[in-house]
Amino acid sequence: METIASIATAVGMGGIAIVRISGPEARNILTRVFAPKNTKRGMRSHQLTYGWVVEGEERVDECMAVFMRAPHTYTTEDVAEIQCHGGRVAADRVLEAVLHNGARLAEPGEFTKRAFLGGRIDLAQAESVMDLIGAKTARAAKRSMQQMDGDLSRRIHQLQDQLLDTVAYLEAYLDYPDEDIEEMTAEQAALRVRAVQQELGRAAGNARAGRMLSAGARIVLAGSPNTGKSSLLNGLLREQRAIVTAAPGTTRDLLREELDLNGLPVVLVDTAGLRKAQDEVESIGIGRAREEIDRADVTLMVLDAAREMDEEERALLKKVETPLVVAMNKSDLERRLEKEQVLALAPGAWTVETSAKTGQGLDALRRALFQAALQGASPEEAYLTRERHVQAALRALEALQRAQEALASATLDCAALDLRAAWEALGAITGANATEDVVDRIFEKFCLGK
Ligand code: GDP
Repeated sequence: METIASIATAVGMGGIAIVRISGPEARNILTRVFAPKNTKRGMRSHQLTYGWVVEGEERVDECMAVFMRAPHTYTTEDVAEIQCHGGRVAADRVLEAVLHNGARLAEPGEFTKRAFLGGRIDLAQAESVMDLIGAKTARAAKRSMQQMDGDLSRRIHQLQDQLLDTVAYLEAYLDYPDEDIEEMTAEQAALRVRAVQQELGRAAGNARAGRMLSAGARIVLAGSPNTGKSSLLNGLLREQRAIVTAAPGTTRDLLREELDLNGLPVVLVDTAGLRKAQDEVESIGIGRAREEIDRADVTLMVLDAAREMDEEERALLKKVETPLVVAMNKSDLERRLEKEQVLALAPGAWTVETSAKTGQGLDALRRALFQAALQGASPEEAYLTRERHVQAALRALEALQRAQEALASATLDCAALDLRAAWEALGAITGANATEDVVDRIFEKFCLGK
């Protein structure tokens, strides 16, 4: 096994950078590049020591260093870390010294990959490391921490255990068949399988919500010019960034803002007014606006509640297929539009009365957007966070369906095989028997130094 090294901290100016080394040569390399101030004391495992990184006679940097003996380390291998000065050059020089002395540069995610290969964490936990680093809201970070603690893995193991119990139950019967109890055995097993199907079905159904809570939702603002989209966007952001103007058609380009919507990371995209283009610039904006709506997780349509809807607004309400929130804006003015008229065209929509002018209804709008993104799923039940997990769950569900059919026709040996297939499909989530290319694909998306 090669010894790897890399700068673990972010690129750029900063007080301190950490150069991390992992592998069988970690200790030797550290001894070669690091000279402790107190030479008598030596370096004890898991204890910080003050000194210098040296190359020959030259002191490269003043540092703190620690050596951590396997297996109680991040990677489960011998690990050394050097805390040197931040900024690109100082850290680079320390890394170079380490590389000159026998380490090779780590690939993205290679430290965490070794933690996985060393059996300290499973694949779902490894993914959560990346999610935690990329988390954009405190809520997303908290969820990643839970997954890192093994929350998802425990749930999957529980389901797997239930399946194995059922297989054992069937196999006990197959080994000692008794004609009289065959039907009862099949019925009992079917009940147990049903319970797993329900739990897994719910999890797969909530997966969209799980993905959004970790990776974020894309909310696209739509509506005719002058309904108050930019003003509402500003209200949601509590900042004045979009251009607000009384002349229609001035919000020409797409405008993207990120915000923390009750813990849900959101990218809010403001579009050009959806109406017939009056000039070329605007027509480009409108074309892209339609594309944005098609790609949205949630569409936020803004209506001017002080006037009746026009043809185009009615058509759009009927057309939007993503979860739809309708803000009936300008509620501070005399009302000319009723909620029922909106719901008649878009029965599944969330409607909220807002006034970007007074700020009234903005909290309700935030809540509606949150609910629309999650579509009623409770955040606690949305524990499948990646497409990879969902695909595995769906494969398991298919096998369970086959198992049910086998049980219904009392072919217990086939049922046992299908249950084992479902068990294996679930195992893909934690990576129990993951192939090398699956593992590589997951870790290559990591950042350097992790
Ligand atoms: P957009 O074209 O849809 O982005 O609309 P703007 O945000 O630019 O707003 C158009 C006009 O409506 C501006 O003059 C705003 O001040 C005004 N406006 C926006 N929201 C409200 C509201 O809730 N109440 C009232 N009375 N005026 C509003």
